[in-house]
This record gives sequence, structure tokens and C-alpha cells, in this order.
Amino acid sequence: MLFQPPLPPKYSALTDEEMCQAIALRKQELGSRLVILGHHYQQHDVIRFADFTGDSLKLSQIGAQQRDAEFIVFCGVHFMAESADILTDDRVKVILPDLSAGCSMADMADLDQLEEAWAFLVEECGADLVPITYVNSSAAIKAFCGGHGGACCTSSNARAILEWSFRQGEKVIFLPDQHLGRNTAFAMGIPLDAMVVYDPRRAHGGLSAPRVAVSRVFLWKGHCSVHGLFTTAQCDEIRRLDPEFKILVHPECTWEVVQKADLAGSTEFIIRTVRESAPGSKWAVGTEIHLVDRLMNEMPDKTIRSLAGIQCLCTTMYRIDLKHLLWTLDELVAGRVVNQIRVDRETKKLAVIALERMLANVSPRPVAIR
Ligand code: SF4
Repeated sequence: MLFQPPLPPKYSALTDEEMCQAIALRKQELGSRLVILGHHYQQHDVIRFADFTGDSLKLSQIGAQQRDAEFIVFCGVHFMAESADILTDDRVKVILPDLSAGCSMADMADLDQLEEAWAFLVEECGADLVPITYVNSSAAIKAFCGGHGGACCTSSNARAILEWSFRQGEKVIFLPDQHLGRNTAFAMGIPLDAMVVYDPRRAHGGLSAPRVAVSRVFLWKGHCSVHGLFTTAQCDEIRRLDPEFKILVHPECTWEVVQKADLAGSTEFIIRTVRESAPGSKWAVGTEIHLVDRLMNEMPDKTIRSLAGIQCLCTTMYRIDLKHLLWTLDELVAGRVVNQIRVDRETKKLAVIALERMLANVSPRPVAIR
């Protein structure tokens, strides 16, 4: 995780209203030179200033389309800002308002670990192995995948990318989210016993040669700490309380939770499904709480609640707040670019291959994993 130095004290003295007024003014001053992107999990105060909102895939597509803007202020987490930098030309400066807004899942895979895993598995497999990384990963991991015949995916198109990868080779290593990998491969008809978890903290990933030989999918031992909070007991409790509730979860949830749910799909799939449902329908949603709250506020004619009785909050995304957004814009108006996220040229060259394969496999409508 990167370190965010403290902001000048004057920002702590401002009220929320003063900060909102100042942000609106800075946006006006910067005009078309500025685009603010906001991820769906972002807090409400901040996302209201986003010019575009979306999940990782949608924001990557929007980032790649930016031709006029000079600055993209990314209200998301570090890997998203890196992807935006990779997909835009050098003229565009991508800014993350708080450098400590990382992603715990992305931090679970580093390049050294992947190189070690790759050397071992390629040696043991004796088969074509394809590396696939979820977009929630560092630019270095994306570059490795792009440079080794692999690709990137999001939760919206993980299935399309896995199908693509099995046309390239016989076996796949999927990282860093074991749950998205398992849920997607299982939905494609790959049995659980043909998948195995590779643990980067153990010698040879904790795998024996015979286990490697019979496995088709190697799942990196990584997970999302937010979606990991949803449990099968919560699903049982909802069904007990009111069987009319439909359970709708993100595929970063465990396989067991996804099997208990009625539907599973990406953030965009969740939004579309709830929006298109009939008035009066009831939804228990297993994803980050800010998105669930927004769905509740947007559709008072439906009963929408979090699947969990606890607050499932992405604490790193939450670090982007009004203070940091205002500070970033103040600095831009003063002619200074702070917190620019830059991916080096060599990494960009290979990472863009992985990202472009991802963007070439996008379905016009987000599809269910289950
Ligand atoms: S919700 Fe999970 S995967 Fe998404 S940014 Fe937060 S920690 Fe990372």
C-alpha cells in the first residue's frame, strides 16, 4: 500500500457543506480538462461529484474513451487508477485522491510470487498454461499475463475470458481471487475436483506433482475481505425470515454462498437485475454496503437489504473522502498535479495487451454467473 501524507490542516476545519461548494466550484473552473470517475462502492458524498460511475469494467471502458480531458481523478482504488493510466495516452494524467486507497485482494499477489508459481506449474504441467488475472491486480501482474499469452478479466466477463483462455491452452492459472475463478469455472461445467488452490506462501503452492497433473484450473489463494463477510448462515436466515426474498450476490463471495443464492453476477449485473425487477420485489444483496444503500434509496417501491446484518464496507475505497477530493482539485486549479498514478512504459506495453483482450470480450449486457 502507498503512503498518503497528511493534508494541510485547513481541510480539517471545513464543514462538509463548505467542501461540497468548493468542489463544485473547482469542477467548474477546470471544466472539460477534468473528468471524475466514481466506482459504485464509493461513499455517497463523493460519488455525487463523479461525471461517470461504474464498476471496474465500465470505468476502464470510459477511461479508455477519454480524449479531451487532461486529468482523470479516479475515486476508486489504486489498481483502477493504474488501469486508467495504462489505457489512456501520455497526455492524460490519472490522479488517485488518497494514495492509501488500495485493494487488499490486489495486494495478495505480487510479481515475484507469480513468477515462482509460473516456473513451477509450467515445469510440472507439461501442458499449455494460460495466466488470467482479475482486473483487481497490480499493473505488474497484468503485464505478466499480457506477456505470457494471457488476459485480464472483470467479474462481468470472467466467463467469456475463461472460455477464451481454454481455446488458447489446456490449463489456466487464475488470480488473485480464488472465488471468482472457482464460481466462474464451476458455472462453465468444470468440476470442483479439477480445480486446486495455489497458496503463494507455501513451497510449490502447497501442491504435489500428481495434484498438478489432474487439475485444469489453478486458483490463487486470494480473496476480497468485503465479499468474504457473506455467509451461508445469512442466506439461511433470510430464507427463514421471509422466503419471498431473492438472494443476489457478487461472484467474489464464496462458492458455498453463490450456490445458496438465487443469482450471482457483477456489480453492473446486480444493479440491472434489481432495477428491472417488478415493484414490490424483495432483494437481499451480497455486495458492498454503499451500493446496497444507493439501490435502496433509488427504488423505494422495492424491499432491498444487505444480505449481512453487519456493515460490509470497502474500507480502502472509503479513504477517498471530500477532503482528499477537494485537496486534489485545489492543487490542479493551482497548476500542481498531486497523487499522479504512473505505470512505467515497459509494464504498460504488456499490461495493455491483457486489458485489450479483456475489453474485446465484453457482452453488451452484464450476464449472470449463476
Ligand atoms: S471490495 Fe474487495 S476487491 Fe473491491 S476494492 Fe474493496 S477490497 Fe478490493
